[in-house]
Amino acid sequence: MTDGVTGLAAPEALDIEVPRTAGSGIDGLTPAPELSRSEHFQAVREGRLGSVHSWELVTAVDGPGNRMTLFLAGCPLRCLYCHNPDTLKMKDGEPVMVDDIMKRVLRYRRIFQASGGGLTISGGEPMMQPAFLKSILREAKKHDIHTAIDTSGNLGHYFRDEDLDDLDLVLLDVKSGIPETYRELTGRELQPTIDFGDRLAKANKNVWIRFVVVPGWTDAPENIDAVAKIITRWPNVERLEVLPFHQMGRDKWETLGLNYQLDGVEPPGNESVDAIRQRFRDLGVPLVY
Ligand code: SF4
Repeated sequence: MTDGVTGLAAPEALDIEVPRTAGSGIDGLTPAPELSRSEHFQAVREGRLGSVHSWELVTAVDGPGNRMTLFLAGCPLRCLYCHNPDTLKMKDGEPVMVDDIMKRVLRYRRIFQASGGGLTISGGEPMMQPAFLKSILREAKKHDIHTAIDTSGNLGHYFRDEDLDDLDLVLLDVKSGIPETYRELTGRELQPTIDFGDRLAKANKNVWIRFVVVPGWTDAPENIDAVAKIITRWPNVERLEVLPFHQMGRDKWETLGLNYQLDGVEPPGNESVDAIRQRFRDLGVPLVY
């Protein structure tokens, strides 16, 4: 089954896209052993095996403290400004078992505890592999590690309310507040993000919103107002991060042979980003960075 907007297979159909054999591997993570076809599918369906793009250690980004950010492969969106287009296809990742991810995560446990940090799962879109994502979160929580996901919320319906218990923080991207702009910018609909945000509010989950300022696309005052209107209905939002668009992903698009449409878009200046932050504050968004 393919999605009408992006032409991508729907996530249910994509379990089979977890690669069966490792490519060049990922430094610091053991590639999954080669399994028979049926063992492979079973491991994927049970959430023990998934497709990983990469990981890195970061400080003061992707959540509080020192963190390990794990990038899963696969995303249903096609944001025109995506700076990681090499994470979009699940089949381009490396097969890794949850146990091996946890071995790596647990090495940093003391650093996480000392800094108030933890594990952030990003992508791509981490919810593209819901069973795998849930397994990693569950294992991390068993070891009392702070957990966060970085998501567009588009596939939030794959998370049941009880799955939210394993999440300490959600970094939720609100890419536009206007449905038409959101669709043109991402190839997907805005409403699932709002629906997921509503559920996070109901569950009183800690949420940090991320919004990217793309000149000519998302910086119009009516768009800022629309984003603010969405955010201010969620009392659980702890902060809003306003991030300037940059051109650092352009080379990756070219290398991958993809059609990059934002070639002529200049990154916004500090003044205009600050003005947008101030507009958000004026509209009642509490903590704006
Ligand atoms: S949601 Fe993130 S990974 Fe997916 S296309 Fe958009 S920017 Fe890229």
